[in-house]
Amino acid sequence: MTEKAVLVFSEEDGLAFELLALAKQLSNQLGSWTGAIILGDGGDRVAKFTEHGADKLFVISEVDSRKDGPDAIAEAVSHVVSRTSPRIVLIAATKVGKEVAAYVAQSLRTGCASECLDVSLKDSQVEVTRFVMGGGFLARQIFESYPAVITILPHRFQATTSKGKGELEKLEFAVQRKMSKVGFRAVEKSGVRLEDAEVVVAVGRGLKRKDDLKLVEEFAKVLGAELGCTRPISGDLKWLPEDRHIGLSGKRVKPKLYVAVGVSGQIQHVVGMRDSKTVVCINTDPNAPMHKEADYSIIGDLYKVLPVLTSVIKRIKEKV
Ligand SMILES: Cc1cc2nc3c(=O)[nH]c(=O)nc-3n(C[C@H](O)[C@H](O)[C@H](O)COP(=O)(O)OP(=O)(O)OC[C@H]3O[C@@H](n4cnc5c(N)ncnc54)[C@H](O)[C@@H]3O)c2cc1C
Repeated sequence: MTEKAVLVFSEEDGLAFELLALAKQLSNQLGSWTGAIILGDGGDRVAKFTEHGADKLFVISEVDSRKDGPDAIAEAVSHVVSRTSPRIVLIAATKVGKEVAAYVAQSLRTGCASECLDVSLKDSQVEVTRFVMGGGFLARQIFESYPAVITILPHRFQATTSKGKGELEKLEFAVQRKMSKVGFRAVEKSGVRLEDAEVVVAVGRGLKRKDDLKLVEEFAKVLGAELGCTRPISGDLKWLPEDRHIGLSGKRVKPKLYVAVGVSGQIQHVVGMRDSKTVVCINTDPNAPMHKEADYSIIGDLYKVLPVLTSVIKRIKEKV
């Protein structure tokens, strides 16, 4: 097989389709094909991957991304990568994806760039753009070993429907799991996909008590917003589930409207929301860094500002 191909994988088909859009651009430049790895039942997914640009499809039914752990998934992905020798492997930077990418790169003794924003080619060298130093700087980095294993932040690229050749490739594979499940404990989840929300209200440590969340929840409700938070609110105080926290170690969101309530705007939070279209900041401190991210700033106490905003929005909605 060629060594110029671009292979994509995600345990979420929607994210794999986004990666196919980027993969297609890169493989066209490299004069090669775009491949996708499908774990579990191929079924009608093969046609969908083809519609989104896959020329070759590697289906491994022995491993199912919905049931198996990252070790088995990584083993299957490594198997395909080592058999096909692509130039670039694109993996969606989900929790599972980041683990899989590290495993694949380590098993092939090659480089891995995580949470990238973009990938480009300099001649045939692969260059990535990614945040470094806690998200404070953007770095451009060039791979020195190949295949280049790259995780891409979700929703950086839009899935397109540019049909690929859709050739089905069968690869023999036997799972040799190195880990077995000894127990299972469900993490508390809100079940909400903040990444897809059009309006997000994010609450920070400006809130004094858990009970006061009602105030923010009511505001979010009239605004038709999903509720997000900073890491201290979910991680330290446990006032909201883990999957509501936004930032470097949490979700990346890009809503049309983002309202930061009592959020200081540390860089680790800002990297998760800086793609928002319009940002409103409510903070008592005029020097809070969040104001620099904001299109509209309200320098004031959230306990006074939120009830007023909530009732004004309610009144406007009643009139419409
Ligand atoms: C490796 C690493 C990863 C991290 N990842 C993340 C991450 O993914 N997401 C994240 O959020 N953080 C993350 N953090 C933590 C981050 O550095 C900050 O500590 C955190 O974002 C601050 O949260 P905050 O804004 O809620 O709290 P604070 O920084 O304490 O800010 C509270 C703000 O509320 C304002 N305020 C106080 N009272 C009121 C009031 N009555 N009305 C209005 N405003 C008020 C204050 O002026 C202040 O600006 C990470 C840290 C590390 C080291």
